[in-house]
Amino acid sequence: MLKSVRNTPARILIVDDEPANIQVLAESLPGFDLRFATSATRALELAMALAPDLILLDVVMPGMDGFDALRWLKAESRTQHIPVIFVTTMTEVEDEERGFAYGAVDYIQKPVSPAIVRARVRTHLELKRQRDLLEEHAALDGLTGIANRRRFDQELGRSWHAAQRSGLPLTLMLIDVDQFKRFNDYYGHSPGDECLRRVASALDHAFSRGEDLAARYGGEEFALLLAGADGASQAQRALAAVQALQIPHARSDSGLFVSISVGVVTTLAAPGTSADAAMSLADGLLYAAKNGGRDRAEVDNLITGERVTVQPPPVSERPS
Ligand code: GH3
Ligand code: MG
Ligand code: MG
Repeated sequence: MLKSVRNTPARILIVDDEPANIQVLAESLPGFDLRFATSATRALELAMALAPDLILLDVVMPGMDGFDALRWLKAESRTQHIPVIFVTTMTEVEDEERGFAYGAVDYIQKPVSPAIVRARVRTHLELKRQRDLLEEHAALDGLTGIANRRRFDQELGRSWHAAQRSGLPLTLMLIDVDQFKRFNDYYGHSPGDECLRRVASALDHAFSRGEDLAARYGGEEFALLLAGADGASQAQRALAAVQALQIPHARSDSGLFVSISVGVVTTLAAPGTSADAAMSLADGLLYAAKNGGRDRAEVDNLITGERVTVQPPPVSERPS
């Protein structure tokens, strides 16, 4: 599922080698989720682990200084969008320029005024919130409200890299609604849209676990990106979720209700493999599921070499 923009208090990471300075800043910012670091290296660790909404960063610190920390934050994809405000006693114009050149959004001078700290922090948090909302919106499919293909492709790239590092398996699914052209022709385009919305919502709810992602891949196609190697049971879950909707389809060759065909690949992101190749394989399996009679999944587990066909539970086991 898409993570919604947080409506809990904004998380702010305060970085200063002097605990007394941290305390002054913290007292200026009541009501926020405040986190602290007294060195740049610790700050980078926390920035990665906590995904703060904003960082207040001291410039002069022993060891790695604020400029180096900022450059590191801006170079790392997971932290580069976190706004950073420098907090420093330096008054040299050059240092301000350097901070902005490295990507800081603002500059606060010590000794800090609590009112100024609050005002600047609020401004930059609001800008970040609006940016996050825009980004989330751009990742959504207009018809169904679930993730769109752009978001799926981004997430697939990210998950593939993560799987290369972790060695953990991934499962990809391509799903296509069966004989949907006939559905549109028989019931009309608007009921067709409603059908797609319901299928999307059922898939999104059935795969809402942790990092699992359900997306509309285009037209009447959906794609799932799942952690783990249990492709066959996940396919069963997808088939059952759509079957349980019991959307009448009077022109279907595969039953009374709207059904789906599914191509499923379980794989490791091992050297010599690619996300694109895995998606092509899933597409081929989807095609095989169509040719095999629709209303089924073809599942290829590249780790075990096992290839199975999964069909939805028989009608008598259908939930009413
Ligand atoms: P198959 O079982 O082989 O997949 O047959 P199919 O009819 O589902 O496949 P085909 O690709 O021939 O037709 C897909 C249909 O999906 C045609 C198109 O009008 C319809 N479609 C695609 N996007 C939308 C949409 O956003 N809304 C509606 N109502 N229909 C859509
Ligand atoms: Mg299609
Ligand atoms: Mg179709």
